[in-house]
Amino acid sequence: MSQSGIQHARVRRALSLALLTASSWVMPQCIAAPATTAAQTNVPQLSQNALKVADYAVAKYDAAMVQSLTQLVSFNTQAVEGQTPDTNPAFVGFKSSLKQLSQDLGLDYADHGYVVLIGLDANSAVNNESKKLGIVTHGDVQPANPALWAKSPYLLDTQSEPGKLIGRGTEDDKGAIVTAMYAMKAIKDKHIKRDRRIELLVYLAEESDWEPLKTFLASYTPADMNITIDAEYPVVTAEKGWSKITFTVPNITISNIEAKAEASTPPVSGLLSPLNNHYF
Ligand SMILES: [Zn+2]
Repeated sequence: MSQSGIQHARVRRALSLALLTASSWVMPQCIAAPATTAAQTNVPQLSQNALKVADYAVAKYDAAMVQSLTQLVSFNTQAVEGQTPDTNPAFVGFKSSLKQLSQDLGLDYADHGYVVLIGLDANSAVNNESKKLGIVTHGDVQPANPALWAKSPYLLDTQSEPGKLIGRGTEDDKGAIVTAMYAMKAIKDKHIKRDRRIELLVYLAEESDWEPLKTFLASYTPADMNITIDAEYPVVTAEKGWSKITFTVPNITISNIEAKAEASTPPVSGLLSPLNNHYF
C-alpha cells in the first residue's frame, strides 16, 4: 500500500496496541479479565500493569520514535530491477540504520539478505528456546513521484499538515517497524516477564517479489504466534488472506461493444475500478 502520511497520534496508538498485544502474549498474567466479562464478551481484558507499560513507552519514546522514523524514511527502499537488498545502496543504508537502532535499544539483529530479524530474548525461568512471538513487517516502499509531494517523499515532513508525519513509508510500513522496536524496548526496560522470544521480521521485497521470502521460509521456523503491523490497521492478529483476480478480455471490436451497449452489463472499466493490486 502506498499511503504517504500517518497521523502522529496514530503512531502513539499503534505503539500502545503493539506493546499491549505483545505484552499480553509474552506475559500471560497480563490478561486478567473478570470471569463474567470474559464469558460475556470473549475478549480478554488487559491488566493495569500492561497499560502502565504502554503509557511509559509512549511518554518516554515518542520523540525518539519520530527521530528513528525520520532516518528510516530517508532511504528510498523501492525495488530496483537487477538489484538486491545487499547491492542497492538505499537498502544497505536502511539495514545499517536498523542494525544501529537495534544495538541502541539492546535488541539482537540478524541480516539474512531479504529478511532482517530483530529480537528480544525470553527472560522467564521457564524458558523454552523454541517458543517465540513473531511480529511481521516490511521495509520496502512503493515508488513515489516527488512532483506530487509538498516536500521530498524521503524527508519526514511534520510541518505541511500539523499533527501528521508525512513521508513515503511512514504508515506502510516503516512506522510499524519503529513502533515494534520501541515496544520491545519498553518491555525490556520494564523487565516484563516473557517466556517467549519476541522476533520482529522485516521483509524487504513485500511490494515487489515474494519469492525470496519463500526461499527464506524453507530454512526458517516462524513463530507459532504472529502479529502483523501494516498500513492503516495498526495491529492485525489474523490476516484474512488475499485474493488475486485475473481477467481475460476477449478481443472484440468497437462496433461489437456499441451493439451491446443496450445490455445492462456495466463497462469493463466500471468493473475494474474498485480493484487494486495491494498486497498487504
Ligand atoms: Zn504494507
